[in-house]
Amino acid sequence: MKNEKNTLYPFPTIEDRNCAELALTTFLRVQNGASRAIMLLVLKAILKKYHLTKLKLNNCIVETNERDCIVIKPKKFITDKNCPNCNEAIYSTDSKVRIISICEGQRSDFVTYGCQCGEVFGKVEVTSPVT
Ligand SMILES: [Zn+2]
Repeated sequence: MKNEKNTLYPFPTIEDRNCAELALTTFLRVQNGASRAIMLLVLKAILKKYHLTKLKLNNCIVETNERDCIVIKPKKFITDKNCPNCNEAIYSTDSKVRIISICEGQRSDFVTYGCQCGEVFGKVEVTSPVT
């Protein structure tokens, strides 16, 4: 008999992890509202299925916050202006890099970027110069 108090939830299967990965990379490649909505649904469903608040993917960590929203946190951080994988410029007008989320701070914002090549990375953007 199982001890219900110490229920161990199964680790996400390879299939489910690949599904989460595919939802993310599809969104990064297509970069439209529909693919974003699908990505969020898929990630939420997988987190819920395994009773997780955190799921590590290849290039990022998916978390749910206290309001049950999906937060995508990068594993890599940059200080320059290019995608660390394909070197795409992040600020050019026709850039293949999109902002996934912004966390606003006092003097700087923490921005998570996603590139069409599938890379996810973070950067601290100083909003007001230190005096
Ligand atoms: Zn890239």
